[in-house]
Amino acid sequence: MSKRILIVGNWKMHLNASQASVLLHRLHERIKIHRAIEVVLAPSMLVLQPLSMQLDRRKFRLAAQNAYHKDEGAFTGEVSFSMLQDLVHYVIIGHSERRLHFEEGLEVVRDKVASAVRNGITPLLCVGETGQERHAGETKQVLHDQITTALSNLTADEIEEVVIAYEPVWAISTFEGEIAKPDDVGLSLKFIRKQVAELYGEKTAKALRLLYGGSVDDQIVRGYLELEDCDGVLVGGASLNYHKFAGIVDVAYQLSQERGDGDDNNT
Ligand code: PEP
Repeated sequence: MSKRILIVGNWKMHLNASQASVLLHRLHERIKIHRAIEVVLAPSMLVLQPLSMQLDRRKFRLAAQNAYHKDEGAFTGEVSFSMLQDLVHYVIIGHSERRLHFEEGLEVVRDKVASAVRNGITPLLCVGETGQERHAGETKQVLHDQITTALSNLTADEIEEVVIAYEPVWAISTFEGEIAKPDDVGLSLKFIRKQVAELYGEKTAKALRLLYGGSVDDQIVRGYLELEDCDGVLVGGASLNYHKFAGIVDVAYQLSQERGDGDDNNT
């Protein structure tokens, strides 16, 4: 069986505790357990704890949207990776909204990735070029710099556990929201895997999971999931709509069945 298809919903700064609980309840009703698919929800920090009590762990895992790289100390307002250890499997790191609105640079992202791994949490590392960088022909350079720095404090074995999400900033719905062509996405994903292979070896590059993110919904997700190097998707806006998000999981399930990775043990 090949890798499980990973579907991550990033709820961003939406949904208070009761709204999040209602959405989770609807998703529980609508989404079945599929062994070939892993579904991860990234609600706000405040909502992680209550959702963890409501969650069916056979169906969903939790991700935090951010954390601070120091384990504890006088850092008012921050939450550390060590505090999240028992609550989440994943943490989103390097999202373009954090890079742009909160000025998180390459070194900050690197320290957060290392802290996540040290605390046993899988980083969902987001990389991707802005529209301006794309037009200037700098996509590969940007990806190279973001990847090499972010992974630089990890061993090859640790990198096998990392998930990298290619999210071109111009394709994210809250920025320009341009729909990226699957062929172009495929080239960038291939480039990312090649970079990792050159730096850390073929075995590591092969094991690494690569996601695509940028205005993905149930209507267009198939084009990305069919790409050779795409192991799943990171979904923003559409993850707040349970029809669309469950529809994305349905498409992933169909695809896994066609590939012979699926199972009929869903409930
Ligand atoms: C995101 O912010 O990670 C994202 C992919 O958003 P959207 O799906 O809304 O473009």
